[in-house]
Amino acid sequence: MENNYKIETRCVQSGWKPQNGEPRVLPIYQSTTFKYDDSDQMGRLFDLEETGYFYTRLQNPTNDAVAAKITELEGGVAGMLTSSGQAAYYYAVFNLCEAGDHIVASNTIYGGTFNLLGTTLKKQGIDCTFVNPDDSYEELCKAFQPNTKAVFAETIANPSIVVLDIEKFAKAAHDHGVPLIVDNTFATPINCRPFEWGADIVTHSTTKYMDGHAMAVGGAIIDSGNFDWMAHADKFPGLTTPDESYHGITYAEKFGKGAYITKATAQLMRDLGSIPSPMNAFLLNVGLETLHLRMPRHCENAQKVAEFLSCHEKVAWVNYAGLPDNKYHALAEKYMPDGTCGVMAFGVKGDRATAVRFMDQLKLIAIVTHVADARTCILHPASHTHRQMTEEQLKEAGVAPDLMRLSIGIENADDIIADLEQALAII
Ligand SMILES: *Cc1c(COP(=O)(O)O)cnc(C)c1O
Repeated sequence: MENNYKIETRCVQSGWKPQNGEPRVLPIYQSTTFKYDDSDQMGRLFDLEETGYFYTRLQNPTNDAVAAKITELEGGVAGMLTSSGQAAYYYAVFNLCEAGDHIVASNTIYGGTFNLLGTTLKKQGIDCTFVNPDDSYEELCKAFQPNTKAVFAETIANPSIVVLDIEKFAKAAHDHGVPLIVDNTFATPINCRPFEWGADIVTHSTTKYMDGHAMAVGGAIIDSGNFDWMAHADKFPGLTTPDESYHGITYAEKFGKGAYITKATAQLMRDLGSIPSPMNAFLLNVGLETLHLRMPRHCENAQKVAEFLSCHEKVAWVNYAGLPDNKYHALAEKYMPDGTCGVMAFGVKGDRATAVRFMDQLKLIAIVTHVADARTCILHPASHTHRQMTEEQLKEAGVAPDLMRLSIGIENADDIIADLEQALAII
């Protein structure tokens, strides 16, 4: 990879490298299968002795080019796409754990991932201890068990907007011989590259800023290549002992820094099959080309809106790390000096019903179950995404019952503020 190129150039040019006479734009290889002239070569592909395509459930050239681009943006060594963010989180964790294992996760993570780690994985015999991301290093360490295999947290938590102290989490993970998995969906590699702060694996819901236009659900997993599986061989037998379901291959021996992603592809994707459609990968790639232009605008607009809301008499509170008095301002300045993201949380004075009346009055800003795309939108997690959580769990997850999640798009900030202003005038 051309490591010297700046991140803006990587957004535009990484991944698809056409040869002489090939299409300039990444082609959509909408084919389930690939043809070979001789049977031996096909056999070598199945043995992972040669690299090449044979069936799109395992690998597809369009998907691989986009995975390679995101890998270069994050500064990793290998990456893969999945059909959704949820699939990425499942694979990222399940690639390291089996029944009887345990993980540590931040309790402010996205509701869907909270359910995945706390409920669904538990049914598969993998336990999770949730920790408060603001806990001290010493307190974090208490959550670890001899069977702990990974730590999971979000750079910027959805929807509570808690900013993660990545170095603190990385130290706790590494001191216990396990990798740190960081979900970088909200910051994107434009604003934060968690590998530079000690994270080992990065995940994404590419559905959000990376796609940027709310066109395709998708996910990605990127490996830094920094975690030494062999140094902790007893903890990770899936990577350090022969895989009988794959001709006795030992991934960490045969693939070195590529071991983690190779296992996730050759074993998990083979068996569980959550691949993106090549068409969706193509759309994601179009989004990635302008990610470096959109993120600064999202942040600039969000800063103006956060400042407007925080001065408004009918607004009870605003949580946006770009505000100087925000609890996470210092962490954001350290890890994301160019800005955090376009998403903020706030509450209006009054009760839950006031929040609903306010939202129903908005005209430009739409109520949608989405965040982090070009169009400004709003959601009330307690009535929408997080409605399956108890009041107690909501509180623990940093989601106040009156919390509204506002995702600022790339429209003109004055129009967004005017819409908020007219809705606030009504309540
Ligand atoms: C959206 C989101 C998810 C879920 O991703 P999907 O692509 O919808 O499966 C998980 N975590 C975070 C932080 C998200 O923003």
